[in-house]
Amino acid sequence: MNYWDREKELMPREELEKLQLRRLKETVNRVYTFVPSYRAKMDELGVKPQDINCLADLKYLPFLTKKDFRDNYPFGLLAVPMRDVVRIQSSSGTTGKPTVALYTKNDIDNWAEMIARAMTSAGATRDSVIQVTWGYGLFTGGLGGHYGAEKLGAAVLPASGGNTKRQVTLMHDYGVTMLGCTPSYALVIYEELMKLGMDRSEFKLKSGIFGAEPWSENMRKEIESKWEIDAYDIYGMTELVGPGVAVDCAYKNGLHLAEDHFIAEIIDPDTGEVLPEGSHGELVITSLTKEAYPVIRYRTRDLTRINREQCDCGRTHARIEKILGRSDDMLIIRGVNVFPSMVESILLQIPGIEPVYQLIVERRNNLDRLEVQVEVSENVFSDEVKRLEELEGTITRELNSGLGIAVKVRLVEPSSIERSEGKAKRIIDKRNI
Ligand code: AMP
Ligand code: ZN
Repeated sequence: MNYWDREKELMPREELEKLQLRRLKETVNRVYTFVPSYRAKMDELGVKPQDINCLADLKYLPFLTKKDFRDNYPFGLLAVPMRDVVRIQSSSGTTGKPTVALYTKNDIDNWAEMIARAMTSAGATRDSVIQVTWGYGLFTGGLGGHYGAEKLGAAVLPASGGNTKRQVTLMHDYGVTMLGCTPSYALVIYEELMKLGMDRSEFKLKSGIFGAEPWSENMRKEIESKWEIDAYDIYGMTELVGPGVAVDCAYKNGLHLAEDHFIAEIIDPDTGEVLPEGSHGELVITSLTKEAYPVIRYRTRDLTRINREQCDCGRTHARIEKILGRSDDMLIIRGVNVFPSMVESILLQIPGIEPVYQLIVERRNNLDRLEVQVEVSENVFSDEVKRLEELEGTITRELNSGLGIAVKVRLVEPSSIERSEGKAKRIIDKRNI
């Protein structure tokens, strides 16, 4: 079994928890001193840094949510002087305030460590050639994967996303052994290879590290059998650091959380109460080493359960179950976060349409496709076809640029979308993830 950092990954739990407590106290102290909005939230609950004396005391601290990120955009949660920041990344999607990630030099180093650890856990070594096909740019995937692969000492191929034919050529010509991308794109690349009539035996690919969107065990089986590789799950998010927060090991029975950098809790998404060991609920994460943008009790909205039993791989770090659902209505479409509320606010700026719409998500040829059905008002609907087409064009343009992904728009007759007595059913997700 290969480990990147044997000392940390196999650390006895007692020692690990001592390390977590020390780092937790430091983090709480830091945010209380340097981040006014944290101080205000803590004061409101009447909790002081010195009240945190054991890991269980975490539950006294206030939660942090995506809204806090938006309200404090871009620098409000910064816990170091701006001159110590060496990198800015942010979430996908262009509507509303993006979720920002700021890093000091140490933050970047720690993140690269997490990814080097994750890639090692997924079978990579110094001898690997790693094709990073997550997007380079503001999205955390590309540069995160890149720095991690370099730290590992592997040869990194910064392919970034898109141009599938070129991805295949690169993979072939440079003898790529590990691929990092979204799971759905892994299948798209495979199909391209088939379409080009290339022979799988000419490729050296052995494993893939896939994440940034939910994918099921069935999807894993499909990728593994088509590609004849080992497919590993990697999890993370902009608010925490990017990818590398948790990753599969060779046993693929839960993702090991980098517990020297993060503490996980599971809460009831409705009441916010911490649930007993082993319960299924919303994952809440506290960072332990982040300097620039520490997060205390961040509500990820991702649903999972935690398993603290030691794994057969020898790692002592807790495992989270594969993440398949969320406690909010965020959709991830080709790696981009889409909230129905974003669609709504764009639609409502366009005259002639009713605020009645539905998002239909499908997976065709392994690529997610979003269709937005929009009801138009009676007088528009009975108008000439040309006007309807114009309106459809306008909506498509607005949604494409506002959401940052290509959307298919379909105008439908007034009253044709089913009304609900309770919450409107805005999403029909046919992907069966
Ligand atoms: P972003 O900040 O844009 O990278 O999006 C982060 C979100 O993507 C997470 O909160 C999850 O909902 C989702 N996500 C990332 N990686 C995974 C994964 N391996 N499995 C399931 N969902 C994932
Ligand atoms: Zn393991």
